[in-house]
Amino acid sequence: MSDLPARRLLLVHAHPDDESINNGATMAKYAAEGAQVTLVTCTLGEEGEVIPPHLARLASDRDDALGPYREVELVEAMKQLGVTDHRFLGGPGRFRDSGMMGVEQNDREGALWATEIDEAAGHLVEVIREVRPQVLVTYDPNGGYGHPDHIQTHRVAMRAADLAAEPDFRPELGDPWEIAKVYWNRVPRSVAIEGFARLREALAEPRGLPFTKIASVIDIPGVVDDWIVTTEIDGSAFASAKAAAMRAHATQIAVAEPFFALSNELAQPLFTTEYYELVRGRREGGGRETDLFEGVEGNVSATGRNGTGL
Ligand SMILES: [Zn+2]
Repeated sequence: MSDLPARRLLLVHAHPDDESINNGATMAKYAAEGAQVTLVTCTLGEEGEVIPPHLARLASDRDDALGPYREVELVEAMKQLGVTDHRFLGGPGRFRDSGMMGVEQNDREGALWATEIDEAAGHLVEVIREVRPQVLVTYDPNGGYGHPDHIQTHRVAMRAADLAAEPDFRPELGDPWEIAKVYWNRVPRSVAIEGFARLREALAEPRGLPFTKIASVIDIPGVVDDWIVTTEIDGSAFASAKAAAMRAHATQIAVAEPFFALSNELAQPLFTTEYYELVRGRREGGGRETDLFEGVEGNVSATGRNGTGL
């Protein structure tokens, strides 16, 4: 285990693109600092809508070829963020995109939504015991905005965090590992409101933004009252890496910095400071944390701050 970097961050997401939208700046920052950044994506995003007209054939109701295409987009996005460890839960295509809430794809065999939590979590336990992350980032219980795959990803990630620490749970998957800190993705309401004000101003100017319609605060996943946010990561030095990673997901995202739109064509702000709620683990001091590993490195030092002895 001595070759593991001292700081190890695990992010668990539903589809390719979610990581870049939610955590792109955070991932680029920690990767640049030499931390181990591991991304686990639960599905290939096969049911996503396709933005570029010339790629429309990829959609699931036509050639159903979007999954492998998004795999390649994710590879390029990770290159932009400097992240080398990205995996699909159980391997590429093991769990399928469940579509939006209420569609028949929800219950299809192999859909993430139709999978037993512990079955899916077992695959993540294996990753956790291998990588031994001190920090886990995922969604809130509503998946940020109610998409079945995002809700299920939350459940799988939280369950896997528990099971990984359980010595009796499938010991063949590795030695038990307890994750010190667990975070949910958040956006403070004031930041979202301010971002839309900026966007409305920009749209009013003749600066050629490729958007005509605008989203609203309720369209942003994970928006909460400011006091709920415990942690903010200033990734502004990695703004261009984040935008490039989002741009790599071209079937899903249209980017015009510092704004973007998904397939609904509703423009929204692109945040380069990313926000989190610490839901498990100790928080030092009263103000917002500015580092996901705050308080962790002290613990790490007991067994070797520089990665020796881990
Ligand atoms: Zn998603």
